[in-house]
Amino acid sequence: MTLRLPDISTRELAAIRARVRRWFGKNGRSFPWRETRDPYRVLMAEMLLRRTTATAVSRVYLGFIEQFPSISVLAGAPVSSISAAVESLGLQEVRAKQLKAAAVQISMQHSGSIPHDAGELESLPGVGEYVSSAVLNFAFGQPVPLIDGNVLHFISRLFGVKFSDRSSAEVRELVSRLGGRRHEPELYWGIIDLVSSICLRKKPRCSRCPVESFCRSRGSDSRAV
Ligand code: SF4
Repeated sequence: MTLRLPDISTRELAAIRARVRRWFGKNGRSFPWRETRDPYRVLMAEMLLRRTTATAVSRVYLGFIEQFPSISVLAGAPVSSISAAVESLGLQEVRAKQLKAAAVQISMQHSGSIPHDAGELESLPGVGEYVSSAVLNFAFGQPVPLIDGNVLHFISRLFGVKFSDRSSAEVRELVSRLGGRRHEPELYWGIIDLVSSICLRKKPRCSRCPVESFCRSRGSDSRAV
């Protein structure tokens, strides 16, 4: 089904982008994986962040990196020790097998270097389009749009359209325009943090939202999309 996008000017999108980035600069959360561009550390963070919260990952991340500081160490580690390191995140057996298999594949096919090509990244076990895009953007500085459940929720509320398919052409077009030329990490981190603290799924705190004046769903939660 083709959704009709609301009229949104390039100027409006630039203003929204600037406000989210400014809000993030003052209010954004600090996580160790946001302080690095090391492709290995970024890839590990994004793989760990699937199906859990950033807070949960922050409790195990530095210990994980200390125990498995490189692709070669991770590739040679027993699944049981990887599983123990990520146990508190849940799904530890699946996570551990995918982390090890990805490390083995990177060792064998890419001489231990994290690939910077979407197709090669997405061929790794446990790496889908979002993780691949996050690595390309956050680690390699490529202006790649990122679309996950947080972004989908945020743009649905902001533009008053119920987007449910993150791979739809409409969503891709809107996020591509919202990200501007650079698709800076701070925009996406800002959206993630806004959704976790202000644009809450049950009861958004619109009066504290930096983009309230642009939002088609602002006001009571019953009006939110
Ligand atoms: S104004 Fe409210 S509904 Fe709109 S993006 Fe902000 S918090 Fe979400």
